[in-house]
This record gives sequence, structure tokens and C-alpha cells, in this order.
Amino acid sequence: MSKLTISADLCSACGSCVDACPFGALTLEGDVPEVSDQCTFCGACVDACPAEAITLERDQAADVADITSYHGVWVWVEQFRGQACSISWEMLGQGRKLADQLGVPLTACVLGHNVRGVAQEAIAYGADRAFLADDASLAAYRTDPYAAVLVRLVREHRPEVFLLGASARGRDLAGAVATDLRTGLTADCTGLDIDPETRLLRQTRPAFGGNIMATIICPNYRPQMATVRHRVFEVPPADTARQGQIVQVPAAMGEAAIASQVVDFVMEAGQVNLADAHIIVSGGRGVGGPEGYAPLQALADALGGALGASRAAVDAGWIPYAHQVGQTGRTVKPDLYIACGISGAIQHLAGMQTSKVIVAINKDPEAPIFNVATYGIVGDLFEIVPALTAEFKKRLGK
Ligand SMILES: Cc1cc2nc3c(=O)[nH]c(=O)nc-3n(C[C@H](O)[C@H](O)[C@H](O)COP(=O)(O)OP(=O)(O)OC[C@H]3O[C@@H](n4cnc5c(N)ncnc54)[C@H](O)[C@@H]3O)c2cc1C
Repeated sequence: MSKLTISADLCSACGSCVDACPFGALTLEGDVPEVSDQCTFCGACVDACPAEAITLERDQAADVADITSYHGVWVWVEQFRGQACSISWEMLGQGRKLADQLGVPLTACVLGHNVRGVAQEAIAYGADRAFLADDASLAAYRTDPYAAVLVRLVREHRPEVFLLGASARGRDLAGAVATDLRTGLTADCTGLDIDPETRLLRQTRPAFGGNIMATIICPNYRPQMATVRHRVFEVPPADTARQGQIVQVPAAMGEAAIASQVVDFVMEAGQVNLADAHIIVSGGRGVGGPEGYAPLQALADALGGALGASRAAVDAGWIPYAHQVGQTGRTVKPDLYIACGISGAIQHLAGMQTSKVIVAINKDPEAPIFNVATYGIVGDLFEIVPALTAEFKKRLGK
């Protein structure tokens, strides 16, 4: 058992350790802080103490024994109104690869109401087992009841890896679950694999404003939790003949204990679904203003595509944030991405460079976007885009 000791002789009762404790495990009522059983022996208080009054003796053997009791890869399957979100199948596809590398089973966690079909689909997409929490209180996503089910399941069954999609709900839920379980969470990963020597999950994501890719490990806590953005991984083929086990589990909170109520869902007017678009015509600062998007919209309409944007254009207020592609916008992977007047900053590339075909239109032949482009057109977008629209319309008979 690890042990935290506070020296009464050295402690000045300054409270630095209380402020530094991420788990609220220290309280200062007398001369020396009291340590509650909320303490995870993370060591934050040791580093924070200016008087070096706190010592931590870690019981490495106990920690390792505890960690080795965790087994299996889990994926949270997100659904909205009974329909699974495609990001969940992407996560299951990657989860399957990780589980196979580790030689462990893959489990899907399906929460909702009347969602047995989603659990069945999860088996088709690669899960060996699906936990199904089907209850009226879980019909619409709410943090508390969803997190309570997952936390209870994790405590009971101890998975070593737990993956969630980095959607709005997934990000919210992952943070709540990781906090309750006091484990690490790497958000917005762009790559996941297993270190063959240590069996640790290697979680790769952009860091320092996208200038480096950091690979993060979580050696001391379980489960190793990560969220991954939409369209980073491929959706695996579904095999409806696949057999798996569906395990019904109860909700973990009664309605009376849940602090929030869903009154209504209001869909945002003019909502864009960039993540699922097969063709995206995207405009950056080079479009010159909000009116500069009109020729791009005409090209997108001719091709049946969606309109994207760089952050520079969004920050300038020319187009809403929902259109932003990149590190702090959407990650997209269309069949065709046409970048117009976009220089190709690393943060923009982070959101679109895995597109199948990239066409870049830029009047600067040295623009970095040409380094990732399949086809580059050097010139003024206000001449090239209308010419492309006219030609596509002619060829498509529009
Ligand atoms: C933490 C962080 C997160 C970020 N997240 C994102 C993000 O999610 N998405 C994102 O896009 N950026 C993001 N950025 C900003 C990013 O660094 C760039 O500033 C931004 O992508 C630049 O946008 P741009 O290419 O439209 O503008 P610029 O870099 O100014 O490029 C405009 C381009 O248009 C060309 N051009 C001008 N006029 C014409 C014309 N008539 N015809 C053809 N070409 C023309 C120019 O030659 C130039 O190459 C982020 C930055 C940080 C620090």
C-alpha cells in the first residue's frame, strides 16, 4: 500500500498542498493537513509543498498487481434517437485492431432507450460482447446517468483500454468518466496503437498548437482512456453474421437523482455536416470577405458538396464556425477537398490532409498547401472557381 506522510515539524500549514490536490483529498483544519481516502497518491501535493514536508512512499508492487488485473478493450457506442453515430463504428474498427494486438476481447457499451438493435449492430462491427443499458432515463444523452453506468461497469469489469469518439457528447462523457475513475484521458487523438513490449496504449495527438505530434502513455492508471476525432479511422465492413454476447445491465441512477432534464432538442438552422460530406469546397482568407464564398458555394452546389473554411475566415466573421476545418474545427476525410485561397498552415492540414483527393487553388506557387495537394492550380480563385463550376455543370448536365 502506498503511503503519504506529512511532517508536523516541517509543515507551515500554508495550504499549497490543499490547493494542488486534484482530488480534493486534503483538508486543512488543524496545524497539519488531513489526508482522506480520496487520495490517489498522485504526488501533486509533494511537488507543491514549499517546505518539503510531504513524503510519498509508493508501493510499486501493489500498483502493478492492480494494473495487471485490467483486461480487454472497450468502446462507447454513441447513438442519437436510436441511430448509432458512424464515429462509433470507426472506434469499434480501431478497437478491434487494438484488441487483436493485445489478444483480448472487444466490448461495446450501448446506452439509450430501445437500442437493442444498436447493440446488435455493434457485434456486426466487431464487438465480441455488448453491454446494453436500455432505460427511459438514458433515452437522451445526459452526463450524470451515462457516466454513472460506465463508471460502475468499469469498476466491476476492469477494461485496460476505453475509447470514445471525440464528438460533443463523447468529449463530455469521457471527461466525466475519467475524472470519476481517476485515470488518465488523452483527448482528440489522431493515432492509437499498442507498444508491443509494454502492452501500453500509445495515444498520439497534436500538441503545442499542432507543431508537434505527441505520443502519450498512461502507465500507472487504468483504464487507459482516449477520445478520437470523427473520420480519423475507417468504418470497418459490417458482418451481420457475426456472433456476440449482449449483456443487459441496469441504469445506475434513478430519475429523481439526475440533476438535469432534457426539455427539447432544437436543430441548428443551416447545420452543416462536414464530417460526412464526400466533397468539400473550402475557402480561406483568400476569398477576401463573406461575399467571396458565393462562387465557392456555387461550385459546392454543382458538385453536391459542402462548404468548408479555414480558421482565418471564421475568425474574421465571414462564415460560421460550423464550417471550420482543422485542428480546432472539424476533421474531414472527403473523396475530394478543394482548398481555395488557403495557405496550408499545419493546423488546417491536421483536419483535412487524409482527404482522398486534394485540389489546391492559390495564387502563391510557394503556398504550403501545394505540398499535400494531389492537383495544384496556381492562379486567382475568382477566375478558376467559376470556370470549374461552369465546366462541372456542363459535364454533369446541370
Ligand atoms: C492553436 C491553433 C489552432 C488553429 N486551428 C486552426 C484550424 O482548426 N483551422 C485552420 O484553418 N486554421 C487554424 N489555425 C490557424 C492557422 O495557423 C492559420 O492561421 C490559418 O489556417 C490560415 O488561414 P488561411 O490559409 O485561410 O489564411 P492565410 O494563411 O492568410 O492564407 C491565405 C492564402 O490565400 C491565398 N490567396 C489570397 N488571395 C487569393 C486569390 N484571389 N486566389 C487564390 N489564392 C489567394 C494566399 O496566397 C494565401 O496562401 C490555428 C492556429 C492555432 C495557433
